Order: sequence, then structure tokens, then C-alpha cells
Amino acid sequence: SKAQIVHKFFEQTNEVLMYIITMIMNLFAPIGTFGLVAHAFTGAGFGAIKQLGMYFFIVLLALFIHFFVVYGSALKLLGKTNPLAFYKGFLPAITLGFSASSSTATLPVSMNCSKKMGVRPEIASFVQPLGATINMDGTAIMQGVATIFIAQISGVDLSLMQLITVVVIAVVASIGTAGVPGVGLIMLAMVLNAIGLNPAAIGIILGIDRLLDMTRTSVNITGDATCALIISKNEEKKLQRNQSGANEPV
Ligand code: ASP
Repeated sequence: SKAQIVHKFFEQTNEVLMYIITMIMNLFAPIGTFGLVAHAFTGAGFGAIKQLGMYFFIVLLALFIHFFVVYGSALKLLGKTNPLAFYKGFLPAITLGFSASSSTATLPVSMNCSKKMGVRPEIASFVQPLGATINMDGTAIMQGVATIFIAQISGVDLSLMQLITVVVIAVVASIGTAGVPGVGLIMLAMVLNAIGLNPAAIGIILGIDRLLDMTRTSVNITGDATCALIISKNEEKKLQRNQSGANEPV
């Protein structure tokens, strides 16, 4: 209670800053995006529309493969769980993540879903909030594909070393991405900078990012829940082993 004035000060400063940013974004982002997209299209011709469509399709495909193949096999092999049953139980969180585009906002529902599927509460409440902050596979996938796409549309050939840099920096950038809508795209600037591309080119994909953001958020939260389930199962196994060891006659 003694720090109420300081608390209020930061809260209100945040309000004012958010208002200014929203105003600037509403006024200038549409014009800026239009300018960048027009520049890209007049330079590359109508082929650019096809390229943008391909970018969209490749990100979606990579997200689906990650969702079903990578998480699916992790659930089956490490979590000894039927992936389809897991996806079904986690569906309320997946749909909320899809519509809210925010891992953080989906956290209460995703933790509830995993607890209902047998994840121990203390594990869910440690692994999932941590995951919602730092574990963003879907975002890293988008950042990797987006960087290659922007390099190609800018006519830059990336060397093997630059490609490796993209992988490493995309993982780091996704860790730094906040679990709220659209931040993955802002962190993409870091990846582009690392290999000498112009971050302003993000404007080209800004217009089609919303649907990708919705999809990658669902992937992000499913990754967190997958980890929580695998850890919970392993802990249970250890506990059972310890108990049976303790019960064995000496
Ligand atoms: N919206 C994503 C999430 O909350 C972050 C991003 O990629 O923009 O997980």
C-alpha cells in the first residue's frame, strides 16, 4: 500500500504509451504497409503475389508438420500418450489460442486442459507459464521462413553461414517474444538485422500475418502442454519406481 503512487504512475504511463502507440499504428501503419507492399509489387511484378501466397502456404505447412509430426511423435514416444486423444483434450485451449492469438491470455485454459488430462498441477503451473514466455516454436518457424522469403524478394542470396545464423537467432528471438498478438513479427527485425537485411521489409508480410499469428499461437501453446505432459509422466514413473523400491524387502 505504501508504493501505491509509484504503482499508479507506471500503470498510467503504460496507458499513455499504449494510447500513443495505438494512435501512431492506426494512422501510419496502413499507409506504410501500403507503400512497402506497392514497392515490392512494382519491383517484382505480379509474381510477388504468388511469392507472398507461397510464403503463407509454407509457414502453414511447416506449422502443421511441427504440430502433428514433431509433437505427435514426442507425445507417443516420450509421453506414452495417444496424440489424437491429447489433441482432443487440448482442443478448447487450441481454439482459444487461435482466436486470441496470445499464449499468455490462453494460459488459464491451457493449464486447465492439461490438468484434466492428468498433468500434475505443480508441473502444469511451472512448465506452462514458463513455456508461454520462452517456448515459441511456431514463432521461430515463422521467423525462419519469413527471413528466407524477405531475402529472396530482396534478391539476396544467403550463404550457409547466414542460414545457420537465421536458425540460431530465430530461436533466440522467439524466446524473447512476448505471448501477445503480433510480437513475433516485431522480433523478426532482430533476425533480419543479424544477416544484414532491412527490417522495414517486415511491412510486406504485415498484411497477411494475422492468420499466421493465430495458427502459430495454437502451435506455441500445444508445445508447452506437450512438455508439461511428458515431464509429468516421467515424474510419475520415477515416483512409482521409488515407491516400489522402498516397498521391496531388504
Ligand atoms: N502471438 C504469439 C503468441 O502469443 C506470439 C507471436 O508469434 O507473435 O504465442
